[in-house]
Amino acid sequence: MSGVKEFDYLVIGGGSGGIASARRAREFGVSVGLIESGRLGGTCVNVGCVPKKVMYNCSLHAEFIRDHADYGFDVTLNKFDWKVIKKSRDEYIKRLNGLYESGLKGSSVELIRGRASFAEDGTVEVNGAKYRGKNTLIAVGGKPTIPNIKGAEYGIDSDGFFELEDLPSRTVVVGAGYIAVEIAGVLANLGSDTHLLIRYEKVLRTFDKMLSDELTADMDEETNPLHLHKKTQVTEVIKGEDGLLTVKTTTGVIEKVQTLIWAIGRDPLTKELNLERVGVKTDAGGNIIVDEYQNTTAPGILSVGDDTGKFLLTPVAIAAGRRLSHRLFNGETENKLTYENIATVVFSHPLIGTVGLTEEEAVAKYGKDEVTLYKSRFNPMLFAVTKHKEKAAMKLVCVGKDERVVGVHVFGVGSDEMLQGFAVAVTMGATKKQFDQTVAIHPTSAEELVTMR
Ligand code: FAD
Ligand code: NDP
Repeated sequence: MSGVKEFDYLVIGGGSGGIASARRAREFGVSVGLIESGRLGGTCVNVGCVPKKVMYNCSLHAEFIRDHADYGFDVTLNKFDWKVIKKSRDEYIKRLNGLYESGLKGSSVELIRGRASFAEDGTVEVNGAKYRGKNTLIAVGGKPTIPNIKGAEYGIDSDGFFELEDLPSRTVVVGAGYIAVEIAGVLANLGSDTHLLIRYEKVLRTFDKMLSDELTADMDEETNPLHLHKKTQVTEVIKGEDGLLTVKTTTGVIEKVQTLIWAIGRDPLTKELNLERVGVKTDAGGNIIVDEYQNTTAPGILSVGDDTGKFLLTPVAIAAGRRLSHRLFNGETENKLTYENIATVVFSHPLIGTVGLTEEEAVAKYGKDEVTLYKSRFNPMLFAVTKHKEKAAMKLVCVGKDERVVGVHVFGVGSDEMLQGFAVAVTMGATKKQFDQTVAIHPTSAEELVTMR
């Protein structure tokens, strides 16, 4: 078609999934165009995993400083300067944006800057120019959900959190999932008077019960600087002349709030794509419906990542995107991501690491009689000599006579770095006996996982 630029593979979205799939496709020699409307790297690099982890690391320093005196250090803390870490964080991300751009150039992926949508004729339109892919990948990710509450616009979301120029004196965070517990934990540990508002009794309700119980209990402790408000929903937000917010809730009023952060989930960025023009169907939440091979309901149009609504995690988008390119362009007809045993870490205070089935899922899948549980709860050695105490807790979910380990759930210090290796073991189908045959590493928290009885 004249005036339409054609590619073997046209990718909409230069985030985790889109970039990974585009670059892998180039390795198989096909022509690839990638359309990105914002900063390269998408959510993870710009307003997600990366700046979040920098802020998490920053808050770890506050935790270490808290315990310095107990380890014999006479350290006086004069102040914490948010601007310092914000500046170096922004510079780091800028460097990453550049690396992504040069990576695309190096792979000869043609970068098209602008916002894409499907035109009436089925081509993809960007700033008036038209493009077509023999195969087209949609990997547009999502954006934070804002509730329909009077005054909600006075709040910010996780994107806004990364724009804050200073540590808020008082913060209200609303939500009970990953983002809420992570951001609230960072702010509270850095010294903001932080209030976390959850609708029900517990945070992370979809996680294994032990993890949800442990983190909620820790947040309830006086030693945790965060204030947890259970069974609390915001009813109205009022902005005063001084710019401070009054947050009215079902359980009371929180005054003089400098920053209110909504962290109640994310919506896929699919509305403006005009998907109906090409027959790509979405579910009620706008998530693109895909089969196990990432095919949408329209031939030649595929989707990976957050906009499909499953496991909103960077490594998932990357793995699905890469495997898709192997399937489409390297003849690997069965290559796909199976969406099983996906390990994940919540950078909460304390940390959570989890892979495989929760206890509840294992019972539902295999029946109660087939499930054996091993649990441990202990004081990590890091806190043996400190006034501040934190628990660690672990659970192995095993099934069948041979006690295949189908779930590993870890709460407490070190669980982030501990989990990847155990995820390999679960993926390989390791049994409890094989865990036990593995000689422990002492003294670590991880050794509990191979010594449970
Ligand atoms: P994205 O990375 O969102 O990329 C989509 C891209 O498409 C964007 O760059 C967007 O600008 C572009 N786009 C959208 N619409 C259009 C259009 N019409 N035209 C052109 N371009 C368009 N995951 C983890 O694994 N670990 C973590 O620690 C972690 N922390 C997170 C912390 C926060 C605060 C958030 C918000 C998310 C976090 N995530 C984390 C999730 C992770 O960021 C996402 O799962 C991941 O980025 C999804 O990748 P994606 O390619 O599907 O979408
Ligand atoms: P989540 O889906 O994790 O959590 C949102 C939670 O907010 C819900 O589970 C719900 O919990 C609560 N909620 C929903 N609606 C409302 C409401 N109207 N009022 C109050 N609370 C509400 O979404 P997030 O925004 O936290 O994160 C999005 C995704 O990004 C995550 O699912 C995760 O996949 C990814 N992510 C991953 C990270 C990591 O890997 N470490 C870090 C950050 C994000 P309840 O029903 O209990 O009220």
